[in-house]
Amino acid sequence: MKNVVLLGSTGSIGTSTLKVADDLPDRLRILGLAAGNNSELLLQQTLKYKPAAISVTDPAKAGELQSALGTAVEVHAGNDGLLKLATHPDADIVLIAIVGTAGLQPALAAIRAGKDIAIASKEILVMAGETVMSEARKHGVNVLAVDSEHSAIFQCLDGKPGASVRKLWLTASGGPFRDRAKWPKESFADITVEKALKHPSWVMGRKITIDSATLFNKGLEMIEARWLFDIEMARVDVVVHPQSVVHSMVEFVDGSMIAQLSTPDMCLPIQYALLYPERAKSDRVQTSLAKYGSLTFEEPDLDRFPALGLARRAGEVGGTLPAVLNAANEVAVEAFCQRKISFPQISALVKRVMDAHHVTAHPTLEQIIAADAWARAEAGR
Ligand code: MG
Repeated sequence: MKNVVLLGSTGSIGTSTLKVADDLPDRLRILGLAAGNNSELLLQQTLKYKPAAISVTDPAKAGELQSALGTAVEVHAGNDGLLKLATHPDADIVLIAIVGTAGLQPALAAIRAGKDIAIASKEILVMAGETVMSEARKHGVNVLAVDSEHSAIFQCLDGKPGASVRKLWLTASGGPFRDRAKWPKESFADITVEKALKHPSWVMGRKITIDSATLFNKGLEMIEARWLFDIEMARVDVVVHPQSVVHSMVEFVDGSMIAQLSTPDMCLPIQYALLYPERAKSDRVQTSLAKYGSLTFEEPDLDRFPALGLARRAGEVGGTLPAVLNAANEVAVEAFCQRKISFPQISALVKRVMDAHHVTAHPTLEQIIAADAWARAEAGR
């Protein structure tokens, strides 16, 4: 039985994680749940899964939850609450699925407390990949990716050393504007929030759906892969694969390519991360390749989607630049969703902020957080 702490339980990854827990009641116990503001759903989840501790952002809501639940459950609040849950003495693995940068401190706290972590929040490895992975090595804990692409690469690598790898290939669905004939570059200025929120193959939260439309999501994943698998940026590449059946691939030095395939369902990488290194029977995912008929691949269009080039640059330069890219993109996506800037201005804004940044190499956590704050202010100017 593994004791699971789930940070971000009411979001899309969080609710999928609870489905996996439903499937495997003899293997997984939900020990802790943390949510942002959706305290109503957190209350329902608490009544169903009976965790030992929960946490919610707002202290007033924590008070309400404590009186509703009585003393059977510890109720915490705010960033302190996330840290308490992440370091809970009974936790075996902490799954972090909090949107934004709030997951960074809990991730490091969990690692330092000797817990395995499963990461769904991209910001953690994008901003602080160097620190997180070196701390994980120091404390002998596993850092497992919940993202379908990184889970695929992890499964394909199967413990092979970096020296045996020619390239890691991340697959990208290409997003709703992949088709160049339908969406030529000139039409990008007319892309609305509604159109950008229609993703062809995955149902996800708003920020990540816009990131999938700009391909910033894939750019962030390139940087994550660079740290997670300790491989230089030049050996991380992207191929567009609209069906989202091949979740990613490893090309080995002998030319052999190994891929992991399934119909898209986040429950699969979540289950793999939570049970690693074991696998458990699940009927949730069934894949009929014959029904797909054909799987197609194409080169990404770097001209219409400058996010990939910006991410490659951030990953190559390293230091504080990936944190700056990430923060500027968050501000830009929010501005796009509020209809303050156009779709092409998202990447233009990120580029402007990256160009203005003075990079600090091998930054401390404080320097990373300061670069993040600087980029947000710069992007808002
Ligand atoms: Mg992904």
